[in-house]
This record gives sequence, C-alpha cells and structure tokens, in this order.
Amino acid sequence: MIRRLGAAVLAAVLTTLPASAAITIIPEKAAVVAATKADIPAAEELILHLELVTGCKMPLLAADQVADGAFVFAVGTAPAGAAPAAIGEAAWSVTPQKAYFYGDGAKGARNAVYDFLEDELDVRWLNRDGDIAYRSQNPLVINASSGRWQAAFRHFGIRSGKTWNVRQRMGAYHDPPKYGHAFTKLWQQYGATNPEFFALTRLGVRAPVAKPGQDPNDIAAFTGKAAEAIKICVSSTALYDHIIAQWQKTSKSRYVNICENDGNDGFCTCPGCTALDVNSEQPASNVFTRHYTDRYMHMANEIAKAAVAIRPDARVATYAYNEYETPPRRVKLLPAVTVGIVPTVFDVESSLQLL
Ligand SMILES: [Zn+2]
Repeated sequence: MIRRLGAAVLAAVLTTLPASAAITIIPEKAAVVAATKADIPAAEELILHLELVTGCKMPLLAADQVADGAFVFAVGTAPAGAAPAAIGEAAWSVTPQKAYFYGDGAKGARNAVYDFLEDELDVRWLNRDGDIAYRSQNPLVINASSGRWQAAFRHFGIRSGKTWNVRQRMGAYHDPPKYGHAFTKLWQQYGATNPEFFALTRLGVRAPVAKPGQDPNDIAAFTGKAAEAIKICVSSTALYDHIIAQWQKTSKSRYVNICENDGNDGFCTCPGCTALDVNSEQPASNVFTRHYTDRYMHMANEIAKAAVAIRPDARVATYAYNEYETPPRRVKLLPAVTVGIVPTVFDVESSLQLL
C-alpha cells in the first residue's frame, strides 16, 4: 500500500513539473524564418506539420518581416552561445520568444525540426504513402525546452520512399563512402586492350558470359546490360594498378570503389583467384552455392594497402553480396576497408549473421 501510494505521489509530481515550465505559443501570432536558402525545405516541412497540428498556416518570412512580439520558429539559427555541432548532430531549443532549430549544417537543422515534431509534438510518419499521425492542439504547449539528436551512422538509408527517409533523418554526413557497381563500363573501355582485367569464366574466356549463339570472343557483341554484368579477375595485379591509377586521376574522394558488378554468373576460374578461396562450397542451406568472400576481401585489402600508401586516410568500399555475402573464412579485413552489406534474406536474425 505504501509503495503504491509512493508511486501515486511520484506520478503527481511528474505530471505537475513539466507544466510549470511549459511555453504556450499562439500559432496565429507566430512565423517561421529560414536562416539560409538551404533551410527553406525544413522551414516548409515545419509549416506543413504545424498546420496539421494547430490548423493554422504560419507564414515563412524574412527576419526583418516578423512583426514585433511575434513568436519566431528560427530554422537554421543557433541560440547565442550554442556549442558548435558535432558531425550528424541536430538540436532545438525553445524560449518564450523563439524556437531554434540548428545543428550540423542545413541537414542538422532539418533533423532538429523532425526531432522536435516527433518528440515534442508527437508527430509520427506512418508509412511511405505519406500518412502522418499527430495530436491536435491550439495553442501549442511546449513542455521540453530543448532536444538533441545524433545520427548513429555517417551514411544510412533505405531504397525508395524519399520523403519518408528524409523525415526519418536518414542520409549522409560528410564524406560518405563511394559505392555502387564499380566496373560496369570496364568491358566497353578495356575489353579489347586489357583482357587480364576480366574474369576467366567457366566458358574458358575472359569475356562477358555469352548467351546461346553469341560468340564469346566477339567484343562488339556485348553491349549494355550484358557487358555491365561482367566480373573482374580478383587476383589481377594489373587491375589493382589500374584501379589505383584511375582513383588518383579522377577522384577527389578518399574512397576507392571496388564494388563488383551485378550477376550470379561469370566469376573468375583462373588459378590466381581460385587459390584465394577457402572451401568455395556453401552449405546446402545457403541461397548461393559458391563462397567467394575471401577472394574479394583479399582484393579489398590489397587495394587498401596501395591506397593508404598514397593517402593515409584512404578507404576502400566493397560489397558483401550474394556469392561473397557471408563473412570471409580466412582473410581479416584491414581497418581501411568499408563493407556495404547487401543481405539476401532481409530479417534481423539473418542480417546479424553477416556481421
Ligand atoms: Zn582471376
């Protein structure tokens, strides 16, 4: 009984405390100001959601257009004395006159808006169709005086659903990895001159896998998608040298992208590549019958060593995908390698097994 009474008293204290610090905003006497052009999308999102919650559409004004005494939602402006934002950080704070949304650049300010809408106004973005749940209130009663959000990763996202992704605060912060199939143009550019770059396929040629009736030695026969799915010779030091040279010549990024092309056929059968494999047979339960992770991660390490020798902060981006999806059995990855994991079975348990 005493414990129950204690809980009741505590609950009473908790419910009365925030109310004493609450700030009440009359939407009809409020305006939204964007600090820069880059802050306008976030300001518009704030206006849209505040209209849902309050039924009142607040104007987007320049700072000198705001009437005396109006409450200002300032997007992209930090309060005086605020500490510089960390990478991926977002913050907001509310005073009786002004609300500030700021952080790591315009993206930080935008994420601060979403953090405020979600945590303070109970807005929820339900799905990619754009359905929004919210709690109606007018006037606005703000209980917390500030909030803070930190991106957990430098780069994260889910394919499609652009607006939903933005509202979930996905995206990239400073120097995201360069990735995506790296060799889709390699055959068109070097097929005639550098066969050693390309996989020696099960058909015994260094060329894209031919369709029935196609001559595998006829370079001109392979165009478009057929050539984009060609595999590389993972042990080709000539290819390593080429990749590093191209990176030095054409890229300002510290990332060297060596993500293999798409496709489940045409992997290299040359002695150099097969020597890098560790028991390439997969358990019968696996979706893919071959295990090529060690050869691809060996290449990633070799490229990383060469790149770091040129530029100490260099990194290599590669995929863990299909036949090279499950972890390597012998190779230990160097710290300079970033792996983009592409799960085939997309549930939490299966994905955790890939780490
Ligand atoms: Zn090979």
